[in-house]
Amino acid sequence: MSTDVDFIIVGGGLAGSILALELIERGASVLIFDKPMEGAASPIAAGLANPVSGKRLVYEPELEQKQTALKLFARKLEQLSGQNVLSEILQTRFLNDQQVSELKTRQLEISNSAYVQAKSEKVLTIENTLRLDIPKTCRLIGNILEAKHSRSETHFDYNDLTLTRESVQWQEINAKKVVFCEGWRASQNPWFGELPFNLNKGQVLKLDHPNLEPSLKNWGHWELQTGTERWLGATTERGYQHLNPDAEGRITLLESLASMQTAQAGGQISEQQPQVLELKVLELKVLEQRAGIRPATIDRKPFVGIHPKYPQMGIFNGFGGKGSMLIPLAASAFANQLLRNQDCQHQAHLDQLFSI
Ligand SMILES: Cc1cc2nc3c(=O)[nH]c(=O)nc-3n(C[C@H](O)[C@H](O)[C@H](O)COP(=O)(O)OP(=O)(O)OC[C@H]3O[C@@H](n4cnc5c(N)ncnc54)[C@H](O)[C@@H]3O)c2cc1C
Repeated sequence: MSTDVDFIIVGGGLAGSILALELIERGASVLIFDKPMEGAASPIAAGLANPVSGKRLVYEPELEQKQTALKLFARKLEQLSGQNVLSEILQTRFLNDQQVSELKTRQLEISNSAYVQAKSEKVLTIENTLRLDIPKTCRLIGNILEAKHSRSETHFDYNDLTLTRESVQWQEINAKKVVFCEGWRASQNPWFGELPFNLNKGQVLKLDHPNLEPSLKNWGHWELQTGTERWLGATTERGYQHLNPDAEGRITLLESLASMQTAQAGGQISEQQPQVLELKVLELKVLEQRAGIRPATIDRKPFVGIHPKYPQMGIFNGFGGKGSMLIPLAASAFANQLLRNQDCQHQAHLDQLFSI
């Protein structure tokens, strides 16, 4: 393990992993600490980079720039590892009545897009939906860092960190800077924990009977067929009481899928027909259930930059439920800020939050 490095990175989820790769690519040395811990988001994320998202079906701002960065990153990782982590997937989006009427008032926006097609009043297909295999991405980058002796599966204890004049020391390791990428656990970080996080828990289910053909159905919840696996997700739980999967999450997801399947078959699920729903739910066999915490922020903007008081410390976090879409572009910009002093648009946001 290296003892003198340019950067210590705390957390090897998607954020820390991609940032580490960007820094190494620019000639810096890093040491990443990643201890698998409860509630991590990256091991369970579906990895969808959706051009149109949310209840209101809003187009992702700067979509082209973000997707280009994602594709460039995936190509780079493929060159380094010989493995593919990015795929395009056809998304079928089912709308409810409220969304239908809302979209009618925004007709222009939808018909202007080359990749959103209306199949019927309540069904759209959305091309250009990308899927980054996040667990595989983290694993591959972990292997690359491991081979360079730049990764440690040690818990990074904040109490062991000493700030020196222009650098940091953690136990026997010296570094120019430490960058925190701990996902939701940053809310417990002594220097960045006060930032306005809006953490929420998500649960997913792995179901039996996968299709060979990859596909994505989205009706607020989603069913993702990867070609080998079938996943159903995801809950969005604010004010959660614990980090574990639970019966409530499982029932919410199964009932939602059963209800969507019945509606799709032309039926109506109503209060008077709970037995129909129950039968549908019984048909679904759950192979696995998992939970993680999305490191979301109140204003939905990530926390990226250098601490205004402690220039030896940075943060790269707050990517919420959009890590695939946001992290590659942000990592490239932040690496350029750290190593080349280039302006990064996120720093002003961070400075502003600390000045409040
Ligand atoms: C159910 C669910 C579904 C999602 N679906 C999508 C999706 O479809 N598309 C998408 O783009 N995003 C999705 N996301 C969001 C995505 O997972 C996150 O944006 C992204 O993974 C965040 O990565 P991260 O590295 O910031 O945090 P994390 O993945 O949580 O990683 C933090 C890492 O730091 C480690 N760590 C923390 N503290 C320490 C310490 N002191 N010492 C050592 N290690 C430490 C943790 O163990 C963990 O490995 C989803 C999330 C959830 C929960």
